[in-house]
Amino acid sequence: MSSSDSDLNARWFKAMQELTVSPTSLVKCPKCEECELDVSDVTFGDQCQHLERHLSCPRCGAYNAILLRNYGSGDRETAE
Ligand SMILES: [Zn+2]
Repeated sequence: MSSSDSDLNARWFKAMQELTVSPTSLVKCPKCEECELDVSDVTFGDQCQHLERHLSCPRCGAYNAILLRNYGSGDRETAE
């Protein structure tokens, strides 16, 4: 039963990588693999330069977050 822990971590890692570059992607929950993860962004810092991207599964409640530092710097814009 415990042998899948590293698999789960690997799937989270992949999901987080995907959602770092492409937050609008539909990524299956690494835990239950039944549902797409909900993504919500929270900015913080003096000028909202940091961003925390929360990933949660509406089905099984699995949760993780990505911290993106200096996200707003460089005037980066994504057309989506
Ligand atoms: Zn799930």
